[in-house]
Amino acid sequence: MTTLRKAPGGAIPEETLDPDDWTGVQDLSHQIIDDAVGYLRDIRDRPVWQDMPETVKAFFETPLPQAPAPLADIYRDVAENVMSHPMGNIHPRFWSWYMGSSNFTGALADFLAAIQGSNLGGGNHAAAYMDQQVVNWCKEMLGFPETASGTLVSGGSMANIIGLAVARNLKAGIDVRELGVAAMVKPLRFYGSDQLHSCHRKAVEALGLGNLALRRIPTDQELRIDLDALRTAIAEDRAAGFRPACVIGTAGTVNTGAIDDLQALAELAAQEDLWFHVDGCIGALITIAPENSYRVAGIELADSVALDPHKWLHTPFEAGCALIRDAAAHRATFAVTPEYLEMTPRGLASAHWLHDFGLQTTRGFRALKIWMALKEHGVEKFGRLIDQNIAQGHYLTALVEAEPLLELVAPTNINIVCYRYRPDGIDGDSLKALNTEIMLRLQEEGTAAISDTTVHGQHCLRVAINNHRTRHEDLDLLIRETIRLGGEIVKTGVPPA
Ligand SMILES: *Cc1c(COP(=O)(O)O)cnc(C)c1O
Repeated sequence: MTTLRKAPGGAIPEETLDPDDWTGVQDLSHQIIDDAVGYLRDIRDRPVWQDMPETVKAFFETPLPQAPAPLADIYRDVAENVMSHPMGNIHPRFWSWYMGSSNFTGALADFLAAIQGSNLGGGNHAAAYMDQQVVNWCKEMLGFPETASGTLVSGGSMANIIGLAVARNLKAGIDVRELGVAAMVKPLRFYGSDQLHSCHRKAVEALGLGNLALRRIPTDQELRIDLDALRTAIAEDRAAGFRPACVIGTAGTVNTGAIDDLQALAELAAQEDLWFHVDGCIGALITIAPENSYRVAGIELADSVALDPHKWLHTPFEAGCALIRDAAAHRATFAVTPEYLEMTPRGLASAHWLHDFGLQTTRGFRALKIWMALKEHGVEKFGRLIDQNIAQGHYLTALVEAEPLLELVAPTNINIVCYRYRPDGIDGDSLKALNTEIMLRLQEEGTAAISDTTVHGQHCLRVAINNHRTRHEDLDLLIRETIRLGGEIVKTGVPPA
């Protein structure tokens, strides 16, 4: 029932977004939860992905609604048009690019976080304390000191830019916050391998350093940064009047899952007085995986690390985390206290502002979805799931190697497998066209979502098993279908390159 109140001097009723009928909303909410549980429970029985029919695409062209509509109708439309056509990354046979596969507890947490609606820009309230607790847990998982600082951000790209921004400011040689990059006497140089994720390019561009400030160092056969080439590049740059500032190590490259020698990079950075940043969006959390943690030894020596809970912790999007060893340098990069955000001795504004550690002012309650899932399963299980995906990567590799029509294109290190279908007599552009066609048919038939890439000049199909629902039988099916589709396409004619 709507209560009509007279606004002072007028007859306009006051309104709110709260429901008129709380019981009706309760019933519908129960229905939504029931449907959501079923959606996840039966995920394996549905296609991984399906292209949208025109009727569904037209749904997204409906005009800006002016008048109200019943929530039940809106939900029905969403169920029919949106929930029915997902990207597919929660499906057990989704292995494209590099995603997490989410989890139900995290989804409940996202709901509760939105219900509470707190702003994590800071303040003296429970969500802000939990945010810091989750940052502390991230430090602990990676072996970072308690004195380090950190911040939860939208994802790995933002986490990397946080780390690189602190590096830039500390190494600029001037007060770069006040004076800007144009005032730097010597231009800065950052280094990473030629396998570096594209977000680093965006970062150096946004930081005003320019793409040329980021030198891509060649990689060895295992796709790890070539340390001699790195040393040479640093020496060249010093001689040419640049200021070498930061080396970015990658713990798990996006192409092949290669992990740079982090211990050697830490040493080199110390010798050369460089900031040592690790892009650990894929691999930082291997620290919690008992069988594989040795692969990322040295990550605890970094000055900053970017990690991605929405990848190997399967946190629903979005959740990234930046950790910075030098908490003071971290805060000094971002903190600004405007007059309307002064702290008070008691009350709501008496705790540290969390927006002082990044670019956002308003921040969502990302911590809860990480926190609840970690509490529910325990960190040991997350570690085992990482080991499981790495073992599955090697299992798939063995299947590829056992099959004469398939060829491994890059060495498998962790959970990313690069392979191609290669019948006799097909090469170059037609080989690429053939494999692209296999990939597209796997997607279109709803069997599996894989992606492709080019490694050291060789095009290949790429399977990234960052998925807690994948089973060995799913990988067996992928190999069977690759071979079946490959044979079929060769028989009917490879599409033109
Ligand atoms: C995914 C990824 C990123 C970017 O992280 P987002 O969460 O997608 O922003 C950066 N580096 C590597 C190595 C990645 O795999």
